[in-house]
Amino acid sequence: MIWNKLIVITIVLLIAFIIYKFVEKFGYDIYTEIYFRSKKFVTIKESISEHTINCNDLNHYIEELKKSYVRVASYNYGTSQVIDNSIFNFQRKEWNKITYNNQTFQCSASICTNSRRQPIKYLCKYFNIKINEESLSKFESILNDYISVEQGKNLLLKERESIVNSISKSIPFLIQKFSKEKLTAKLGFETIDISDTYIPTFTFQYISAGGNSSSNCVIPLNIENLNQLINYLNDIIEQTKSIAGQRALMTSNLREIIKQRDNYQCCACNIGIKHEPNLLLEIDHIIPLSKGGITTLDNLQTLCWKCNRTKGAKII
Ligand SMILES: [Zn+2]
Repeated sequence: MIWNKLIVITIVLLIAFIIYKFVEKFGYDIYTEIYFRSKKFVTIKESISEHTINCNDLNHYIEELKKSYVRVASYNYGTSQVIDNSIFNFQRKEWNKITYNNQTFQCSASICTNSRRQPIKYLCKYFNIKINEESLSKFESILNDYISVEQGKNLLLKERESIVNSISKSIPFLIQKFSKEKLTAKLGFETIDISDTYIPTFTFQYISAGGNSSSNCVIPLNIENLNQLINYLNDIIEQTKSIAGQRALMTSNLREIIKQRDNYQCCACNIGIKHEPNLLLEIDHIIPLSKGGITTLDNLQTLCWKCNRTKGAKII
């Protein structure tokens, strides 16, 4: 009799334990799933839908800007076929590292070492960056776009946080605490890519003829280097000109100067950061570079990203 009771108690305890473990493992997930499907949540989601659409729009725009970089070394050198007829087909390990693409330059040991000392100079020389107004303008607009990307990403994150905060009182504590990412996704926000992998890099690669040693010099064309490249190109161009013109240089500094001049306000729709603190403001060439406009103070204006995008679409 007593054995029977013990067996029943054991089975009951076992079932209780299994249920406990199940709830522990899936309970929270089930809870969140039920919550995200609830009418209450759907109503909250709808109440901010205009903001989420806006954020996602800016996210798309930032992704478009990342593509602004057109291959600097766009030469097509042709194709070839290599046939190795050597009797002793040594495979030294460094040979495997040889990279063939137009952002890698195979060079001697001394070029590789010198490129570390004067990266911008070597970049221009060996990656066919022409020193003229045209390429200066090209890099100015790449820099302009990249700074917008970096600022846009930060502002977008802040904006998203402020929207989520504004509805935080209506969202259960547990969800906010443990499912923040899922919450933003369920609210309809698309993922923001905050990595900087869109920035192109250029490599000087030295591999010894014997395949036993190698070294690299990698130059990322990031905002800092772009600023330097623009100044470098301008310095050389200025030397060849007889009269210094009215030209300004689109650098990180100039962007801030123009924004300040325009009171951090869009010159087209007059919305500024006073009204929308997380608004992405960009610098626009009134007469575009593609239509002969140049970087001068009076050809530059502050535009919000929406007006800038509309203007860009019209030109195309
Ligand atoms: Zn505007």
